[in-house]
Amino acid sequence: MFKELKKGDNRLYQAARGTSDILPEEQPYWRYVEQAAADISRLYGYRRIDTPIFEDTGLFRRGTGEYTDIVQKETYTFDDRGGNSLTLKAEGTPPVCRAYIQHGLQNLPQPVKLYYISPIFRYDRPQAGRYRQHYQFGYEAIGDADPAIDAEVIDMAWRFYRSLGLARISLQLNSIGCRQCRPGYLSALTDYYNSYAGELCNDCKTRLEKNPLRLLDCKQPSCQRIAESAPKNTGYLCPECDEHFNKVQEYLGQMGTTFELNHRLVRGLDYYTRTVFEIQPDEEGGAQSALGGGGRYDDLIEELGGRPTPGIGFAAGIERIILNLKKEGVAVPATPGLQVLIAYLGDAARAEAIKLAAGLREAGISAVTTTGGKSLKAQMRQANSLEVRYTVIIGEDEVKDGTATLRDMANASQETLTIGEVAARLS
Ligand code: AMP
Repeated sequence: MFKELKKGDNRLYQAARGTSDILPEEQPYWRYVEQAAADISRLYGYRRIDTPIFEDTGLFRRGTGEYTDIVQKETYTFDDRGGNSLTLKAEGTPPVCRAYIQHGLQNLPQPVKLYYISPIFRYDRPQAGRYRQHYQFGYEAIGDADPAIDAEVIDMAWRFYRSLGLARISLQLNSIGCRQCRPGYLSALTDYYNSYAGELCNDCKTRLEKNPLRLLDCKQPSCQRIAESAPKNTGYLCPECDEHFNKVQEYLGQMGTTFELNHRLVRGLDYYTRTVFEIQPDEEGGAQSALGGGGRYDDLIEELGGRPTPGIGFAAGIERIILNLKKEGVAVPATPGLQVLIAYLGDAARAEAIKLAAGLREAGISAVTTTGGKSLKAQMRQANSLEVRYTVIIGEDEVKDGTATLRDMANASQETLTIGEVAARLS
């Protein structure tokens, strides 16, 4: 399983390909998006769920679907030391459905509304906006087939992006029918594509056999031209799916949510039924452009061994949101920095500095002392580079008087206080 570590192998390690460190400078974007996700979830009545990072491999094979790109090419699957096949979370919906079944959530008032923020692992070809570990904010409304829930789930996604300040986005909507009407559409689609079989890319040749719906969203220009004139699924919907789709559109209209119908939108997962939707940035970014997507999955819970239960969900890629926040120049709030640095000269002052730092933290004020007996000038340089708001200076004279100098770094003004007064003054 492991390659032998070579003797003398002292190379410098890098984050594994397609993964990244989120350094402190980037964190304000992450906090901003996570806070917006929690806020919108509260507004629509969703409660948080966290599921494990790995699951039984079968959950994704049955849930996500044997013939999806994710299961065929992208999962991180391994045997643990007990010989069980496990897979790192390759998408959020099957684990939430598994938890819904496992914990008997069908006994609660339906729909059960759950949201998550979680890392997702896919062995993808890394490029801008496409990574091997990325994060998703996702949510699921399980246990209600009413088209009003579809409209609410879609509206929530739309308002989430708008609340972040993203303006150059669009909402794309489609219906891919159900178990009853989809076979008719698939056979029309297969007939159409068979007459172009020689012109399709290699992936699409396989899709034609295994997963014809995916032919419609191939990103190859030559396949896109063929997809343009392909039969539209909306013409093949059964009366129930047709009515459902009409109602979704009607309710979205009532909520003032603008959308575009897109007959080529099919989404990459096997379990979708009826409503599918995606949020796209206006600037086309190729294969890695969708900011988020979702849809209805009325057969999934049953597929996973639960009682027949309808559901619908959505997932947003956080890295892509951040890329677009930067592209659109949206300013995010800075995380509060360190408030106070305590500079001192001499051992007696150092003891006072350590005590004062502890007292300030007790009062909820962030504070550090310098270390290592640096000159006052070096300590002030440190205060500047840490961008603290205040510096407290304790020199030998101050120790004798029991005082300290408080310097406001914004305007360089100084005042002398007794040590006891510093915390009160700063609060
Ligand atoms: P999916 O689970 O494929 O529907 O993806 C939901 C969202 O997650 C997409 O719309 C993207 O915003 C994001 N996403 C999916 N795959 C990746 C990836 N490999 N790297 C970064 N973001 C991704």
